[in-house]
Amino acid sequence: MAKAVDKCSFCGREKRETRILVAGLNAHICENCIEQAQVILQEELAAEKPKNLPDFNLLKPVEIKKYLDQFVIGQDEAKKVIAVAVYNHYKRVNHSKDAGTDDVDIEKSNIVVVGETGTGKTLLARTIAKMLNVPFCIADATALTEAGYVGEDVESILSRLLQVADYNVAAAERGIIFIDEIDKIARKGDNPSITRDVSGEGVQQALLKMLEGSIVNVPPQGGRKHPEQKMIQVNTQNILFITGGAFDGIDKKISNRLQTNKIGYKTDKKQQNIDKDNILQYITPVDLKAFGLIPELVGRLPIVTFMHTLDRKTLRRILTEPKNSLIKQYTKLFELDNIKVTFENEALDFIVEKSIEFKLGARGLRSILEGIMNDAMFELPSKPGVKSLNVTVAFVEEKFRKTSMAHLKVA
Ligand code: ADP
Repeated sequence: MAKAVDKCSFCGREKRETRILVAGLNAHICENCIEQAQVILQEELAAEKPKNLPDFNLLKPVEIKKYLDQFVIGQDEAKKVIAVAVYNHYKRVNHSKDAGTDDVDIEKSNIVVVGETGTGKTLLARTIAKMLNVPFCIADATALTEAGYVGEDVESILSRLLQVADYNVAAAERGIIFIDEIDKIARKGDNPSITRDVSGEGVQQALLKMLEGSIVNVPPQGGRKHPEQKMIQVNTQNILFITGGAFDGIDKKISNRLQTNKIGYKTDKKQQNIDKDNILQYITPVDLKAFGLIPELVGRLPIVTFMHTLDRKTLRRILTEPKNSLIKQYTKLFELDNIKVTFENEALDFIVEKSIEFKLGARGLRSILEGIMNDAMFELPSKPGVKSLNVTVAFVEEKFRKTSMAHLKVA
C-alpha cells in the first residue's frame, strides 16, 4: 500500500503545498495555520488579561517636575504645564473609576508641545510614561492617512499601544501616545475655502474621535494584512495624547497676532515688554489654528506649551547632567572594560561648540562624541595595560578632524 501523504491536519494542504509542516503525535500543522493560531491566541489573551490594575505611580505636580528634571534639562515652562496636565489627567482617570453619574465631568487634557526638533519633546513624553509606569508609544502623524488611503490608519496607533501593553487592553486604555510632527498635517493657509490640503485635513478629522475619547475597533496586528482578524475594542477616553511639532514659521503668526493687538489702544506698553527673541512663549491655540490645525482638533488639544531652542549652556548641561547623560554612558562603557575615562571641561565645551556650529542640536552631541571616541573604543579593550583615558581638548580636536563630520559645511 502507498504511504499516506502528510497533510496539515487543520487546512488539509499537502506537504508539498506548504513551506513548513510541523509534525505532532498524530497530526501536522502548516505555517499558515500556525500564523492564524497565533492571531487567535493574541485575541484570546487580550480578552483574558486582568482588568484590575494596580494604581499607578501618580506624583504631585512639583514632584513630577522634579522627576522630569533628572532626565530633561531646562524647558521649565513646558515641564510645569505638562506636570499639571498629567496630574489632572490621571486624577481624572482615578476619579472616573468611582465617580457617580451626577459628578462633574472633568475633561481630558491632551497636550500640544511646540518646539524645534531635538529639543526634548519626545524625551519629555517618554519620561512621563516611565514615571507613571504606563504603556507609551510614538506615532508619526506624517505616516497617517484617512481610512481607505494608502498608509497607516489612525487606528494603527492604538495597535502599537496595545502591543507595548502586551495586549493588556485595560493597561493600554490609560497609556500615553506621543504623536510627532502634528504640524505636518496642518492644512496650508488659514482659510479652508482657498487652499485646502485635503490629505492633511482628512487625517486631522480622523484623529478627532480618538483624541476626544471613543471606542475604537483596533486590528491587533496593525495594518490590514489580516482582514479576517477579530478587532479589539479600545476605549480612548483615558489615553493621554501628547502631540508635538516644530510648527516652522509659527513665530511669525504669533508676532502678527501680537502686532495686531498693538493697533488697539492701551496695549502699546504691553507690546514693549514682549521678548522678541523668545516669541514661542506667547503661543496660544489661536496660533495653532492660524497655522492650519482645524478648530475641532485645536479644541481637543487644550494644553499648549512650547520648548526653547537649546542654547550653549543647556547643551553643555545635557552632556553631563541627566541621569543617563552621554558622558555618564561613555564612562560606564569604559568602566566595564576596567578603564577610567575622564573628560576635561574644555573638551566638553568643544563638543558643544561643534554641535552649535553645525546646527545639530542635542542629537549632534551624540554623533560628535561617537566619532571622537570611536578609536579609543576600538583600540583600548585590546590593550590590557591601559587603565585610564583622559579626554583633553587636544585629543578631541584631533579626533574630530578625522571624523566625516569635520568636512560638513556649516549650514
Ligand atoms: P524632539 O522630540 O523634540 O525632536 P527628542 O526628545 O527626540 O527631540 O530629543 C533628541 C535627543 O536629544 C534625546 O534623546 C535626548 O538625548 C536629547 N535631548 C534633547 N533635548 C533634551 C533636554 N532638554 N534634556 C536632555 N536631553 C535632551
